[in-house]
Amino acid sequence: MPTVAILGEFLDATLDVANIPDYPNALNGVQLANVGDIDRVTTAVDFSTQAIDGTIAADARLLIVHHGMFWSGIQPITGPAHQRLRSLITHDIAVYAAHLPLDVHPQLGNNALLARRLGLEPSAGFARFQTVDVGLSGRSDIATADLADRLRTLASEHRGGLVATPFDADRRTRHWGICSGAGADSATLREASTRGLDTVIVGEGPHHTAVEARELGIVVLYAGHYATETLGVRALGESLAAHFGLTATFIDAPTGL
Ligand SMILES: [Zn+2]
Repeated sequence: MPTVAILGEFLDATLDVANIPDYPNALNGVQLANVGDIDRVTTAVDFSTQAIDGTIAADARLLIVHHGMFWSGIQPITGPAHQRLRSLITHDIAVYAAHLPLDVHPQLGNNALLARRLGLEPSAGFARFQTVDVGLSGRSDIATADLADRLRTLASEHRGGLVATPFDADRRTRHWGICSGAGADSATLREASTRGLDTVIVGEGPHHTAVEARELGIVVLYAGHYATETLGVRALGESLAAHFGLTATFIDAPTGL
């Protein structure tokens, strides 16, 4: 059975971690080592007590997450943070995190899988971050209301809901953009306008993005940060498990957002 070093190397290579920029706190790659070999892995959107407890219950030795151990920044290892670390080390569980490298991956990425799930065919990128397009865009001819229904279904599978900026019942989406998670901000909306997009699908965004979208004639569909980022990490775990003959379990821990 493989070690965390072998699995980490494979994941780093699969996701091209070395070449994809990210926020410093993402700290993509192996975040916590373990000692023993690994025959079971778990995946979760967020590093959390629930994800760790699920990993212990699954008797797994590697937890793969999208938002890693250092997402909230530098903190004292006391209280719940101490308990999380103690549980991981006691049960010999390693942690691997993949943020933007997972969002952008053409097969296993959150955005590619979200587009597929919605029946949309990407033809270009969207949501530029430094040297990469984190999101995707493409052409379609679909009722915006139908797109909203599909997103509402995804959100409801994870105890979330859909928020949409107002649009007419007969409106059609002909040029869409997707950026999972916190995908809506002033910069992405300006980019959407420049690219000629009429509909932007994201997880979440601040209130002012809804105001700006309306000014630009763009509809934004906010399907929930959590729900839009369940697809990638799950697919990554399954791909890793298939390659090494392991078992992978997705731990669904909805945040409601
Ligand atoms: Zn996210």
